[in-house]
Amino acid sequence: MRFGRLVQTNFLYLKKKLSDISKIIESQNAFFRTQKTKDVNFRLQLLKSLKAEIIANEEAIYTALHKDFKKSEFESFISEFGLVISELNLAINNLRKWAKPKRVKASILTFPSSDYIYKEPYGTVLVIGPWNYPFLLTMEPLIMAIAAGNTVVLKPSELTEHTSLLVSKIIDKVFSSEIATTVLGGIDVATELLAQRWDYIFFTGSVPVGKIVAKAAAKHLTPVTLELGGKSPCIIDDTANLKLAATRIVWGKFLNGGQTCIAADYLLVHKSIKADFIEILKTEITRFYGNNPKASRDFPRIINKRNTERLAKILKDTNVVFGGEIDINDSYISPTIVDSPRLDSPIMSDEIFGPILPILSYETDKDLEEIIWNFEKPLAFYIFSKNKRFVENTINKFEFGGGVINDLLIHFGNHRLPFGGVGHSGMGAYHGKLGFDTFSHEKAIIKRGNWIDPPIRYAPYSNKKFTILKKMFKWFG
Ligand code: NAD
Repeated sequence: MRFGRLVQTNFLYLKKKLSDISKIIESQNAFFRTQKTKDVNFRLQLLKSLKAEIIANEEAIYTALHKDFKKSEFESFISEFGLVISELNLAINNLRKWAKPKRVKASILTFPSSDYIYKEPYGTVLVIGPWNYPFLLTMEPLIMAIAAGNTVVLKPSELTEHTSLLVSKIIDKVFSSEIATTVLGGIDVATELLAQRWDYIFFTGSVPVGKIVAKAAAKHLTPVTLELGGKSPCIIDDTANLKLAATRIVWGKFLNGGQTCIAADYLLVHKSIKADFIEILKTEITRFYGNNPKASRDFPRIINKRNTERLAKILKDTNVVFGGEIDINDSYISPTIVDSPRLDSPIMSDEIFGPILPILSYETDKDLEEIIWNFEKPLAFYIFSKNKRFVENTINKFEFGGGVINDLLIHFGNHRLPFGGVGHSGMGAYHGKLGFDTFSHEKAIIKRGNWIDPPIRYAPYSNKKFTILKKMFKWFG
């Protein structure tokens, strides 16, 4: 009821905000110049208030995510709320260290000197978020942008209106709009935002929109991080522990209803074990979600009817060997296995982004190359195998954002690992300190001593100076 009313006010709220975009940017730019965000204590205070407000809203966050696509509280905790709180704790506990100028070894060529890297916030940052993890993927960049001393305008997705509105309310409660604010709305609002000049743009979403963002950023030479998607393969070779592989694949593929950028998009199973593996997968899906996943409280819905229809369409004329139940009105598609789709079929053309798992088979490394190189560089890559040589060769052979051996998704959970894509799956990376680094320009500073000034570099040049200079470069350069 409470949320229903909030959503009704959404339009007015949005209209007001739209007319304010350039004023918001102006005020954020002006605030940035006051130098207040350069004060680490100020940033820490903001992060602590944000943490308190998020914790106070824990139940409301679960409710909003459930209203948006029936996401369970359990999944909302492990894949959104919990990760956001860990990222906040990490930033709060380490910010002083991260923000301090870092002394680096001086070069003999600049002797005498003390050399440093200063972390400098970019200024006013635009963050555009997707709908699939609508709390995590808006809050995480916001946290690191604020930690790094920027001001932020955040546009969450229009498709998760309950969560996006709640994100907006939390931000408005914690920050004055000259430090951070949200602008709610869809493509028109995003287009309007992208037409402005920013100091940094952080975008999470699809490849086609990523190209639009990159083009808009190029107009002002704005640095950009693009966290995109793609068709992420998962190889299961004939040495893999099939039961464990199936359990982990069913977890990682059907979490969030398969709407995860790093979900395995399709499986490549060694021909000799494929039939057995499909049977084990079926058993595991039933163990997770019962005989009727629609009735399971743990299985979310597709984000909206349009996406459900899209998935129903790509499922047409495929060899469904498990699942395949569709209820457009309920935005429901059951966990589904498709056997041996053609590479040129719709299901294999684009990222699936839903609970449909196509299974292809291979026999040789050449088969793998032919299939995997058929697609752009993926965001994630998974290998289930006990053959260490095969694993190393495969990691080195294929280009991809990041991956896991013998599991799915968990590389997202280690804040010491960079998270990001390559090629069409994105550019730039974040998480943990790397997120702080993403939102910081590294300023090189040399502090020079005055007590000695070797004259070698100064004119008039001479053969003797030149010989010494060459030797110095040879020995120390
Ligand atoms: P999307 O690209 O449709 O939308 C993302 C954001 O861009 C939304 O806020 C939307 O309003 C805005 N947008 C949409 N069309 C636009 C346009 N023409 N101009 C400007 N802005 C526009 O993506 P989505 O459907 O929300 O999310 C799904 C995609 O995101 C998948 O491809 C998935 O792989 C990817 N994704 C990537 C990551 C990652 O971390 N790499 C994480 C989550 C999702």
